[in-house]
Amino acid sequence: MGFKKHLSSLKSYEAGKPIELVIRDYGIREKDIIKLASNENPLGVSKKVIKTIKKEAKNSYRYPDDSMFELKKSLAKKYNIDSKNIIIGQGSDQIIELLIKATANKGDKILTSALTFAMYGIYASHNQVEIIKTKDGVHNADQFIEEYKKSKPNLVFLCLPNNPLGDCLDRDEVFRILDTISSDTIVALDCAYGEFAAYRNKNKEIKPKEIINKYKNCIYLGTFSKLYGLGGLRVGYGIADSKFIDLLSRIRPPFNITNISLKAAVTSLEDSDFIKDTLKNNFKEMEAYKDFAKNKNINFIESYTNFITFILPKNVDSSGLCEYLLKHGVIIRDLKSYKINAVRITIGTKKQNKIVLRLIDKYLKR
Ligand SMILES: *Cc1c(COP(=O)(O)O)cnc(C)c1O
Repeated sequence: MGFKKHLSSLKSYEAGKPIELVIRDYGIREKDIIKLASNENPLGVSKKVIKTIKKEAKNSYRYPDDSMFELKKSLAKKYNIDSKNIIIGQGSDQIIELLIKATANKGDKILTSALTFAMYGIYASHNQVEIIKTKDGVHNADQFIEEYKKSKPNLVFLCLPNNPLGDCLDRDEVFRILDTISSDTIVALDCAYGEFAAYRNKNKEIKPKEIINKYKNCIYLGTFSKLYGLGGLRVGYGIADSKFIDLLSRIRPPFNITNISLKAAVTSLEDSDFIKDTLKNNFKEMEAYKDFAKNKNINFIESYTNFITFILPKNVDSSGLCEYLLKHGVIIRDLKSYKINAVRITIGTKKQNKIVLRLIDKYLKR
């Protein structure tokens, strides 16, 4: 057949297990399932957003505004930039896909850390682009600089903070990397959890305006899937110099964002109480996980995100733990596919976290 030869060797993304699967395979009722596997907002969807979605439903027969005027205007205001600096994607995933497609040819190279968001590698493989990795899983500025000089990649992804480990470079370190990279190499700052990092530590805050004023080869990526609780509506964005955005936009599929998603995203930006509650709950509740880990001699990496990654001792198998939790209706993320004996747990509500930690404790005591 006429398919490209490399397709049969491609791996697809291993998503957090969906709730439907746990209902089916484990016979657990939907209301008893706790899903903390995909870094979704544990507070759900804000009430204001639900109202907007209901109101917008009647317009579903219309094609969306492909200029995305309103959402771009809201984002431009939030970041004190111009609408021309913004591209909207079906999740920031789509921006990652477009970026690789737009910048890298077969045989080109992309630089990432050793343990980072799987989608970079997946979209690279679609385009037969090679991934070069720094030595460490956590981001290390010296390693990025050294590896950049050695392998001259076309594209660099910095995940700030880094999924699935939770680590985050300081802004100064990010600038140090950007200062050494030549203007013909594209750099993506994936800030899917950027709001969480900035809330916890001001030194981690990356301001898109600062980036685009200084680095014309750099794009800031944001998403509505994490803090704003809209993972199912698939909205993300890229912010860069207007020439950069103009070129990238030429391969954006038309009407890639639905009417409902566009409106919901605008409303979510305005719901400051929901945002505040989410951030507060997250870092308050993260303490319970940290205390637990310290008590049980489990290693963890300081997290600037809405999840925590437990590095398990040798005698505790990550897959065994995940399987045990699944049987009790709790879904967390096994990191075995990243070749580490670790689990990533999204910080849930107080009630959820209590149940999860009690179950993990039981498992450890078996
Ligand atoms: C969740 C996530 C994204 C984007 O998710 P979308 O739902 O596609 O917007 C991007 N990067 C990282 C590191 C993520 O964890």
